[in-house]
Amino acid sequence: MYPETAPPIQPTGPETQFRVVLFYIYTPIDQPEVYRDEHHRFCLEHNLLGRVIIAEEGLNGSVSGLAADCAAYMAWLYADPRFAAIDFKIESSEKPAFQKLHVRVKTEIVNSDLPVDPLIRTGIHLEPAAFKMMKNNPDVVLVDMRSRYEHEVGKFKSAITFEMDNLRELPEHVQEIEHLKDKKIITYCTGGVKCEKASAYLLEQGFQNVYQLHGGIIKYGLEEGGEDFDGACYVFDNRVTTEVNRVNPSTVAHCHLCNTPTNRMVNCANPECNDHLPICAACGWTLEGSCSTDCREHPRKRHYDGTGYYPRETNGYTPLLGYRSQAKEKFSLKTGA
Ligand SMILES: [Zn+2]
Ligand SMILES: [Zn+2]
Repeated sequence: MYPETAPPIQPTGPETQFRVVLFYIYTPIDQPEVYRDEHHRFCLEHNLLGRVIIAEEGLNGSVSGLAADCAAYMAWLYADPRFAAIDFKIESSEKPAFQKLHVRVKTEIVNSDLPVDPLIRTGIHLEPAAFKMMKNNPDVVLVDMRSRYEHEVGKFKSAITFEMDNLRELPEHVQEIEHLKDKKIITYCTGGVKCEKASAYLLEQGFQNVYQLHGGIIKYGLEEGGEDFDGACYVFDNRVTTEVNRVNPSTVAHCHLCNTPTNRMVNCANPECNDHLPICAACGWTLEGSCSTDCREHPRKRHYDGTGYYPRETNGYTPLLGYRSQAKEKFSLKTGA
């Protein structure tokens, strides 16, 4: 189960108006379809954008909006006994981190297909301060549970990584750490949601001492300054990556074109390529955000604005999309969706 949660740390840095809120909780949710509409409506009423996944096993989301709206959202979730133990990770942002709102029902809050239930058994939760104390012990092994494109741009020093496209592939890679069964394993991921299942799976597989970084890299960065996290933390919004290490920062990725160290991740401007690669600022401008000269010449090449992030077509997008059952009662839908 979850450790006691402290009140979330409010960002104090630049006096930005926006927040990005990351959270998850494994808790039974009856009739997720019904709750989905309620949740979607709250987000609409508070101008929140982002992605929320609702399943019978719990809630997982990242939303962004004005600080006051995010505060109202968190208070609303806390007021629901099912969600009172949520541990929010809150970052500042100069602008909204999402262009759209998706509130969806799925069978799992993080795709894994792993035969585990974190509410029954999972790795021991380590708070960031405890993780910081333990991570360099000789009998401790850090295991990154994120996908290849995530750990390519940043990871903990000396952590073991897997060449996974997603967590469903974990069973194929467990043999790579089979020889470490007598060690203390600490799993980590972006915000902690994957590790609830990944650490449970390692216990199933006979690992005895399994821990997980509670709140993931993001919470560790907010609370402990991110010491020994090399590179940047990949995030699933229009920031692409976020800096978490204020203690001993470094870079791990190299520009795909000129090999200079860089923390910048860019989607190739050729929509048919759209490859996700580290590209330094200079090469980004030279190739207009493309990964190669071929991609730069593509007739449908997108306009490069220096970020390398391309929201999927937002023309005519309304956050009301996807808001079905009760929409007609309260909102007038122009889209006919
Ligand atoms: Zn370069
Ligand atoms: Zn390309």
